[in-house]
Amino acid sequence: MDRRRVVIVGMGDTGVLSAIALARQAQVTGISTRPALVSGQELGNRLADPEGWKRNFLVPFERFRGLDRVRSVHGRTIGVDLEARRVRVALAAGGETSVPYDVLVIASGVANGFWRHDRVEGLDEVEAGMRAIEERLAAAATVAVVGGGPTGASAAANLARRHPGTAVHLFFGPELPLAGYHPKVRGRIDAELRSAGVHVHPGHRAELPEGFEGDDLTSGPVRWSTGQPPFAADVVLWATGRVRPHTGFLPPAMLDERGFVRVDEHLRVPGHDGVFAVGDVAATDPNRSSARNWGFLVLARNVRAHLAGRPERMRAFRAPEHRWGSVLGAQDDGLLVFQPDGRAVTVPRPLVQPLLFDLYLHLGLYRGTRRR
Ligand SMILES: Cc1cc2nc3c(=O)[nH]c(=O)nc-3n(C[C@H](O)[C@H](O)[C@H](O)COP(=O)(O)OP(=O)(O)OC[C@H]3O[C@@H](n4cnc5c(N)ncnc54)[C@H](O)[C@@H]3O)c2cc1C
Repeated sequence: MDRRRVVIVGMGDTGVLSAIALARQAQVTGISTRPALVSGQELGNRLADPEGWKRNFLVPFERFRGLDRVRSVHGRTIGVDLEARRVRVALAAGGETSVPYDVLVIASGVANGFWRHDRVEGLDEVEAGMRAIEERLAAAATVAVVGGGPTGASAAANLARRHPGTAVHLFFGPELPLAGYHPKVRGRIDAELRSAGVHVHPGHRAELPEGFEGDDLTSGPVRWSTGQPPFAADVVLWATGRVRPHTGFLPPAMLDERGFVRVDEHLRVPGHDGVFAVGDVAATDPNRSSARNWGFLVLARNVRAHLAGRPERMRAFRAPEHRWGSVLGAQDDGLLVFQPDGRAVTVPRPLVQPLLFDLYLHLGLYRGTRRR
């Protein structure tokens, strides 16, 4: 067994899966801003049904059986010494530490809205933050969601269904929501939004206040560069897809012009032996979709091949042309999973938790989680 040291920066959706996949072959250390997986998935359910969301998407690390062999460091990576092969971490408890590696995996994701960030938090702070958002939304008579990507669509549909007394408005630039998805998916989600009671407003491009990145809920009128009159809402949720990669701790030469980590088809960072990247931070394809297309499996295989000195065993990461997956999350009538060719598969509601989450996610992908 190879017990060489693999350090994973960022223990979100892909970091956790990568750590679990590598834990038997290597001595894995995960550096994490939170002591739990706080998934980037399903914002809509997180807002509309926080307790249900937490069951599957807020999972303290000690509940993952597959992480039992993984050392977890609670803190934020603030630098990488590529010569010395060490990562510098500002610890949550105060002070700094330096963690040596043989293989470095960058899985630090992106900042997106108020729900994805690189701040160091404890579990109490994560839960308190969720409660504050919940209370603000519950007190609103009118909510404006700006942005028609999967996040905006999911937030609008779920809020409208769970809070029928709240007027939920969704604004986006193109004719249909979900740019980058198959045309069939775009039409289907447009219809789902309308049937959920969302007021759908295509052709609206919002002007973000100067210096504001959309990383907080706001109130007050939203102004449009497309000429419509300002729209007043009690709460404005910005889901404009302005993702910013968490790569400030890396040398600029490793990054592309937008700050994402350059990778080759094997998820290796060119010019840096033993450095890999995966997930939303990795510039794999135009949709940067290795988080949702089993990139962690490709990563784990290639790290193993690297450690074994057998690069010929590496596999290439291939992304489908269209984005796919669930958009709205679980609804009363089931969960719609879209395929890259636009077809939809419905998982009936009674099967969603036992089949998709308990069996596929917790037992299959996570290789077993302990009860709460
Ligand atoms: C199994 C699976 C299914 C999916 N299904 C869908 C789907 O159906 N529909 C859909 O739209 N999407 C889906 N997704 C994709 C998902 O929405 C995002 O793409 C995914 O959350 C991105 O994961 P990530 O690990 O790259 O980033 P994140 O989950 O954001 O994790 C990054 C972590 O790194 C931390 N971090 C940042 N900087 C540092 C630092 N300096 N030091 C230490 N830590 C740091 C962050 O705080 C965060 O915790 C799926 C993903 C997976 C894994």
